[in-house]
Amino acid sequence: MRFNENLQRLKTYEAGKPIELVVREYGIDEKDIIKLASNENPYGTSPKVVKKVQENAHKMYLYPDDSMYELKAALAKRFGVSAEEIIIGAGSDQVLEFCARAVLNEHTSVLMSKITFAMYEIYALQQGSKIIRSSCYRHDLDEFYDLYQKHNPSIVHICTPNNPTGDAIDKEYLYSFLEKVKDPLVVVDGAYMEYAAYKDPKKLIPPRELIAMYPNAIYLGTFSKAYGLGGMRVGYGIAQKEIIQQLYKLRPPFNITTLSLLAATEALKDEEFVQRAIEKNFAQMDRFIHFAMQNELEFIDSYTNFITYLLPQNINAKDLANALLRRGIIVRDLSSYGMNALRITIGTPEQNSIFFEKCKEVFDEYKR
Ligand SMILES: *Cc1c(COP(=O)(O)O)cnc(C)c1O
Repeated sequence: MRFNENLQRLKTYEAGKPIELVVREYGIDEKDIIKLASNENPYGTSPKVVKKVQENAHKMYLYPDDSMYELKAALAKRFGVSAEEIIIGAGSDQVLEFCARAVLNEHTSVLMSKITFAMYEIYALQQGSKIIRSSCYRHDLDEFYDLYQKHNPSIVHICTPNNPTGDAIDKEYLYSFLEKVKDPLVVVDGAYMEYAAYKDPKKLIPPRELIAMYPNAIYLGTFSKAYGLGGMRVGYGIAQKEIIQQLYKLRPPFNITTLSLLAATEALKDEEFVQRAIEKNFAQMDRFIHFAMQNELEFIDSYTNFITYLLPQNINAKDLANALLRRGIIVRDLSSYGMNALRITIGTPEQNSIFFEKCKEVFDEYKR
């Protein structure tokens, strides 16, 4: 059997550990497990969304409306764009995949930050494309520009706020880069934009303005993070019609489920819920900053619902993550990104208190 050669360079993506796995492998009761590993909204989704899905559960035998009329209309209204400027994906991940397949092949390259969302590389490698990375995890767009001139990449990935580091760039800084970079598709991934916009309005990249000024840009958003719908798999891309039309050729029919469409549309109606969750997120973030300072840990100033602790040499990220796992706490160890660091999703006040307690327990053990 002959597989596509591009697969040889690929490893299977390792997603955050699910609660079920910790139950099975560590024999810990499900109710004692705290998952702070995948940046879900710990407050869940709006109760109105849950109600809507429950009321419509019997409709699961029906194929969804493949035009996604309602959700697109709601997004169009929210962002002040037209429905033809929107594509919906099974998570913004699927839109990323469409972008890669639309643009890349064995003769192209993709530019991204040294440490950023792992799927950019995976989709590019699937197409046989070359990966160019900057030397710093922060988006140093001067360096990006140098690399752009040198390698002429077909896609440039800008992840702001960046996952797994949590830092974000100013809108004006991005725009000054885009002024000079007219050729590649520039993918602006705003998976955590709702959080960043709350903390600092300068970080907000409005999709309508972005695509009006820069026809080679596409903005990606998702319902998986602030909207609390990770399990429903809904994301979107916003770009000029010419780009969206090309991406549409790659979209499988019915790529979003009937109930997911309803959930996302309903979620957009309860902005209040999302804003409350974001406020609580940053109030809890202060506790994580305080904890880091108390324990002499460095951290990256975060514009998201997670924080990245940079660990000293004597604490190994993998060991610490495992020690926490044995105590029922799932966090993301960043060693596979080449960083001795942990990424921790900001949980509810109760979850965070337990995290601090268990983390302290492990640190005290190290000291002995
Ligand atoms: C979570 C995430 C996504 C996509 O999530 P979906 O669930 O596929 O919508 C995209 N980009 C970044 C940076 C993320 O953290």
